[in-house]
Amino acid sequence: MTEEQIREQIREGLRTGVIPSTMPPAPASRAQKTIAVNAGVGRPCAACHDVVAPSPSPSIVLIYEDRQIVFHGRCHVLWVHERGGRRPAGATHRPGAAAIG
Ligand SMILES: [Zn+2]
Repeated sequence: MTEEQIREQIREGLRTGVIPSTMPPAPASRAQKTIAVNAGVGRPCAACHDVVAPSPSPSIVLIYEDRQIVFHGRCHVLWVHERGGRRPAGATHRPGAAAIG
């Protein structure tokens, strides 16, 4: 699968809600983890759907309250790019706003 194909799968997943568009919320306690690195081996990647194999390049698992999303390291990077394309409400960039205080 090419990078563009993976991006298309991610965009489709974002559209349909299969792939979340936000990171998991901050953990309520230190014991709770919301991101696991080098986890998810043997489970399908949410982006490219290939099973995550043991590999030197780390895989990423995002742990939400109701589900876990597994990504290859490279697919996670593509997800970050693709979800960044849509600006969350209220996050409009105002140049100079910080200077006004
Ligand atoms: Zn993948």
